[in-house]
Amino acid sequence: LPLGATVAGARYAVLGLARTGLATVAALIAAGADVVAWDDKAEARDQGAALGADIADLMNIDLAGFTGLLVSPGVPINVHPLARRARQSKVPILGDIELFALARPSLPPHKVVGITGTNGKSTTTSLIAHLVEAGGMQARLGGNIGLPILAQAPLPAGGVYVLELSSYQIDLTHSLACDVAVLTNITPDHLDRYDGDFLAYAASKQRLFGMQHADQIAVIATDDDRCRAIASHVTHRLLRVSAKDVVPAEQAAWPALQGPHNAQNVACALAVARALGIDDAHIAKGLATYPGLSHRMERIAEIGGVLYVNDSKATNAEAAAPALAAYPPAVDGRPRIHWIVGGLAKVEGVGECDAWLGHVARAYLIGDAAPMLARVLGDRVPHAVSGTLDTAVAAARVHAQAGDVVLLSPAAASFDQFRDFEARGDAFRAIVTGLWEQGQVHE
Ligand code: ADP
Repeated sequence: LPLGATVAGARYAVLGLARTGLATVAALIAAGADVVAWDDKAEARDQGAALGADIADLMNIDLAGFTGLLVSPGVPINVHPLARRARQSKVPILGDIELFALARPSLPPHKVVGITGTNGKSTTTSLIAHLVEAGGMQARLGGNIGLPILAQAPLPAGGVYVLELSSYQIDLTHSLACDVAVLTNITPDHLDRYDGDFLAYAASKQRLFGMQHADQIAVIATDDDRCRAIASHVTHRLLRVSAKDVVPAEQAAWPALQGPHNAQNVACALAVARALGIDDAHIAKGLATYPGLSHRMERIAEIGGVLYVNDSKATNAEAAAPALAAYPPAVDGRPRIHWIVGGLAKVEGVGECDAWLGHVARAYLIGDAAPMLARVLGDRVPHAVSGTLDTAVAAARVHAQAGDVVLLSPAAASFDQFRDFEARGDAFRAIVTGLWEQGQVHE
């Protein structure tokens, strides 16, 4: 993506040379900027140098005179020493989305939809992009999802950039005037990056609606208190939506969008699609053909009448609760969920999952959180410590009967046992696919 004339001749420091950092360096250099970059890994530094960046440990150079310090959203700027030095030197701390914002005037006419929220961002973002395409326009996904936006080719005139924005990314963005800005929900998460302050975390999301231009449309799901508070402060055009807007009977026809949480995501996406001028017939077609995302309530296989569902993306209790809600007990009242839960717990307890424990036939506890979960579940749900995913699946297979669901919805981060939630979900998929293949051989 061309950055345009704005950055030519400017000096940028780039910390972190993974995918996004490298795409940032490449775009800056192509636009004629000077770049000094650093990564703790030698291999990453070599890749940065190959793109034309000067390599220097940014902690050891004077930051004054730089136009900006570019960091990845993974860098905790509330505590990172380089971020502190940048603030002292009055050097703005930016992310790749801010460079995208600077590039916009030189792109063909387009629209930008920005999506934030604690949960549902990826689903809502990919659904919006799908509806845009169903409506006959071109879309690019970017931000917290897919390829780095700066690594992608620009859209021809009339295209729509659909950007998933975590609060960390919004913290690094200062001038992105979205044409449509979307907020799905806000519940406590990631508070370590906001010094434990829930309101500071919410304020970060609220900033998406502060970088406004006159014609911005705000789409806010006002199902929780924080979102209602933010909606009450929006001064431009506001579309309030709610999970309750979506009719369950209709929802039943959309295979990848079931459950009450998806009703909220659909309500947001529908409002955006209509705001972009897509007509109802194309929207209906888009909803019916949306393929869903991996690791979010992903149906892997049905083996012996037992459904295996990968919801590895549920890294907190608020995200796991809707998954538990989605599979009510059988008609005879017998709970059906074999819940594989655990990992690296962010908090004590199972939070909002408490309300749905009646749907759980048995819990299989994995990872660091297993002892805590055993204590918290007590005698409310039959459970056993499985330790790892493969022993959990093996145990669940023994206990589950036809009509049951083996659900990986961990309500915890993955980093104790896996690189990330994707690796965890991929491991689950591989184990289940292995079971399925064994079954085929036996038949
Ligand atoms: P994000 O990108 O914000 O992490 P995803 O769409 O990837 O959100 O979904 C993450 C997890 O949260 C999944 O387990 C999903 O089932 C759950 N989830 C999705 N949408 C919502 C919602 N609107 N409210 C609560 N949980 C949700």
